[in-house]
Amino acid sequence: METLCLPAGKESLQKAAELFRAGQVVAFPTETVYGLGADALNEEAVRAIFAAKERPADNPLIVHVARRNQLEGLCRVTDTAEQLMDAFWPGPLTLLLMKTSRVPDVTTAGLPSVAVRCPSHPVAHELLEVCGLPIAAPSANRSGRPSPTTARDVYEDMAGRIPLILDGGSCDVGVESTVLDLTGDVPCVLRPGAITAEDVASIVGQCTVASSVMRPLKEGESAPSPGMKHRHYAPKAKMTVFIGTDEAVAAAIIARYDQAENAAILAHDSALPLFGGRRAFSLGSTPREGAHLLFRRLREMDALDVSLIFAQGWNAEGEALAVMNRMARAAAFDLVQL
Ligand code: AMP
Ligand code: MG
Repeated sequence: METLCLPAGKESLQKAAELFRAGQVVAFPTETVYGLGADALNEEAVRAIFAAKERPADNPLIVHVARRNQLEGLCRVTDTAEQLMDAFWPGPLTLLLMKTSRVPDVTTAGLPSVAVRCPSHPVAHELLEVCGLPIAAPSANRSGRPSPTTARDVYEDMAGRIPLILDGGSCDVGVESTVLDLTGDVPCVLRPGAITAEDVASIVGQCTVASSVMRPLKEGESAPSPGMKHRHYAPKAKMTVFIGTDEAVAAAIIARYDQAENAAILAHDSALPLFGGRRAFSLGSTPREGAHLLFRRLREMDALDVSLIFAQGWNAEGEALAVMNRMARAAAFDLVQL
């Protein structure tokens, strides 16, 4: 199959909407990462997403809508959900709600809940408006790889597998949406993102974070969200993450880097001058900039065929939890606290 990559505009959006109506898969930009979309209520179309991504069938998809009233008949919207939608939609917050039988089991991997989100990116929003369908869309990477933050990243993973990629430039947030479980008594963050547990608690009073966000699952422990049990965000290189002051991190990384072959460093801007002429790349100066840059850097490391990555992290709390969850998983939880 030939894969077209078109700048997002009136005509290409119409074309994408037609493809959606015909049960095809199209990649499009959102404010978090690029999504790989298809009609969420069309079983065959949803199966085509799983096939293009090589995604395990037990990992459910997020259903995207342009407007709240598109959720009617798809899930049970609670009062808490209404309050959070008022505060954070459109935006990078996915809500888990109990589904109706109209949502096919393939979309939710057989789970009784469905994940729903209303993206704020103008291209995603316009596309969802134009097609008028709820669109199931996971990140547009091949399963296991770092999520795509540019149309070029999508092309790298999806060329020959899907008919169309809409190019809307690079994604603002850079890591996937916050996944918030609203099916229990207290809202619980299953996957951290740009909307933090603190943000949620400021609106609805309380919010917990799943304990497995920053550690590997224990033997026999069931994942609160299926996405957590799969290898994820992984570059080809082996990665280790160091947390501490710039000086402590630089000393620890330099000691290892100088013993290693074909290594590269990802560090905060304030620490970069400490690495001399070694191969070091910027992760920005704040957790938010780190989130924006992380997946791009991991893909660059893959392109350079780096064998080892030594990365500087942040303390895994508040705003930094989103980027640290991705870094920890990319490093298979090889974290060094200094
Ligand atoms: P992706 O869209 O590729 O970023 O992945 C969507 C994430 O949401 C994955 O981690 C899924 O496991 C999670 N997810 C989607 N639907 C559900 C659900 N019904 N219950 C729990 N987790 C879900
Ligand atoms: Mg994904």
